[in-house]
Formats: sequence, structure tokens, C-alpha cells
Amino acid sequence: MGLEIEKASGVYLHDTNGKKYIDLISGIGVSNVGHCHPNVVEAVQNQAATYMHVMVYGEYIQSPQSKLAAALVNLLPETLNNVYFVNSGSEAIEGALKLAKRYTGRSEIIHFEKAYHGSSHGALSVGGDEIYKQNYRPLLPDIKQIEYNNLNHLKSITNKTACVVAEVVKAEAGIVLAKGDYLTQLRNRCTEVGALLIFDEIQTGFGRTGSFFAFEQYQVVPDIITLAKGMGGGMPIGAFIANKEMMHVFTNQPILGHITTFGGNAVTCAASLATLEVIINENLLATVQQKEALFHQLLTHTAIKEIRSKGLIMALQLDNFENNKKVIDNCVRNGVITDWFLFADDCLRIAPPLTITLEEIKSACIIINQSLNEVYG
Ligand code: PMP
Repeated sequence: MGLEIEKASGVYLHDTNGKKYIDLISGIGVSNVGHCHPNVVEAVQNQAATYMHVMVYGEYIQSPQSKLAAALVNLLPETLNNVYFVNSGSEAIEGALKLAKRYTGRSEIIHFEKAYHGSSHGALSVGGDEIYKQNYRPLLPDIKQIEYNNLNHLKSITNKTACVVAEVVKAEAGIVLAKGDYLTQLRNRCTEVGALLIFDEIQTGFGRTGSFFAFEQYQVVPDIITLAKGMGGGMPIGAFIANKEMMHVFTNQPILGHITTFGGNAVTCAASLATLEVIINENLLATVQQKEALFHQLLTHTAIKEIRSKGLIMALQLDNFENNKKVIDNCVRNGVITDWFLFADDCLRIAPPLTITLEEIKSACIIINQSLNEVYG
């Protein structure tokens, strides 16, 4: 795009030419509380002036870590009561996969088509797109891919399976939702054969879908969840969360089952706690569905074949990549930042900060409709 960013605030990005853009993708799925939320900025500044980084391998008690872990656990079902902080989404997935292998003593890992879990070797191994994987083989052994929403495929999960890793909403596939009671059936099959269920909430967590975690809307509790992106309010942090008894396997033979120099860094933890508190204290979850509905109501251009959404993560299904790209370029020219999806390049992505106002949604939709008109008439 060639935009040089001067500053970012709320839902707006400002470039060095003085032009202002509504950020409808939150860079990507990160700025759930808006860019430079004053509480997050203050938490970062205060913690940076207190201590930034001290050893994180468990030797020291660090209140930014323990307060954040307590706040997260407080929002989760009681079985998800132990938090391991890492640097990114990919690392959270790496930790979760390692934990599942170590805890079950099994090696097979099952994932879904068009799933995205990150770009490191382990995370890429459970990615559901061959184009991204082909240049890096051999990847992890013992990986199986099954189809999302296909009940017959659940039979592939057996007593050889260490874990199944699933997105609650398949984001990079272009917002694919679980049908009916699919996630319950998936949960039941995992329980039946002793395989762990990992929910990747890296893109859907921290309020994105209208509940703090997307899985809350499906009455299904996973064994492990992974978080990152929106978790840091703009700072790089991730986590995988499981049961304490399960996580305990990382404490012996060897004593450091997962090692990360920066995981649990005090400044990023302080930013994350401030972010969590903003979501709760500003009651951001309460308005997500109303905002989602307003997008649906205003985006009625005939070129949109379908809008798939779960809260404020949505895909406008267009006809092909070429036209989608033109619409996206027009949007940027007209002052709205949007994007396509990794595995759905014919869909336009909308995932604004949850703080976006109804007026800002109206302004953004006028620009999207105008940009669609410029391509489709
Ligand atoms: N899982 C999901 C669902 C994601 O959307 C992403 C990032 N797009 C990741 C994992 C990987 O996160 P990161 O880029 O922080 O490694």
C-alpha cells in the first residue's frame, strides 16, 4: 500500500500526508480496544518505568504476570486454570501441541482444512493450506487433516490422537462457522478416545466475536486454548491455557518443558491486563452484536453474495480476487483499510476495533459501498 503511518488512535490510522483512514482490520485482529487506548498506553509507560524485563522462567514472582493470569483464569471455566505466557500466536500453538504430546504420550495431531495456526514449523504443520507448506517439507510427522463440519471425519480421531487443534471460527478460511452441534460432537469424540481438544482463540479471543472467548457461545469447553493478537492491546504477547495438573508435565524431565526468553515479559503483561480491563469496564462486549447487525444492514450492494460473521469478524463474499483487490484498493484510496483472507482471497475482511462507534460504521460502509460501485457499478 505504501502508506507511511504517522500515528494511530482509536479506529483511525493517520499517514504522513495528513490523510486519515478508518482501520477496519485492526492490524490484523489486534487492536480490539482501538489503537493507543489511553489505559493501555499508561500501563505500558508505568511498567516500562518500573521494570521491563527480568528473568521469566519462574524464578521471580512478577505481579504483572500473576495479575494477568488471575484475571484470565477468572474469565474461564474452572478447568482452564493455568496460564503459560509466550510471545506470539505461533508460539502459543507450539506450546499447546507440545503439551498435548507430552501429556498424552501420543504423537498424532489432527487439524482442519484451510486452518491457520501460524508460520513456525509446528504451527505450519497443522495449517490447512498446501501452498504455504509445500516449500518446507518435511514438516511434523503424524499429522492428519480432516474436514470441518464433517461428522463422518470425526472417526479419524482415535486413541492414537494426542490432540485436535481447531479454530472456533475459521478465520483465514473466510469466516467459516461451526454448523449445528458440530463442536459438541467434536468435543465428545475427543473425550471418548482421550485426545485433547485445543481451541485456537488467537483471532477470536479478547471479545472479537461478542463474548470474551468465542467458545463460550458453543457450550463446549476445550482442554487447551491459545491466545495472542488482541490479547496485548497492541503489544506482542500470547498464551496457552490448560489445567494445572496437565501443565505440570512441563515442570519435570526436563524441568523446563517449554522455554521462552520473553514470554511473560512484564510490559506486555501489563498491557494485556489493561486491555482485558478495558473490554470489561467499557462493556465492549455488549455492543458487538448491534455493530455486527449494522454492518449487515448497511452493506447491501448486489456484488456482495453473502456476509459471514461472528460478532465483529466478518467476510464479504465477492466474486473473485481481481475484483476484491480492486475494491480493497479503492477503499484505501477512499479512506478505509480492509484486506482479504489468507485462504479466501475473494472475500473482503472486516474486523474493526470493538470500540468503533455506530457513526464510524456508517461512514465506513458508505466508503465500502462507494468502492464496490466503482468496481461493479
Ligand atoms: N492462529 C490464528 C487463528 C491466527 O489468526 C494467527 C495469526 N493470523 C495465528 C494463529 C498465528 O499468530 P502469530 O502471527 O502471532 O504467530
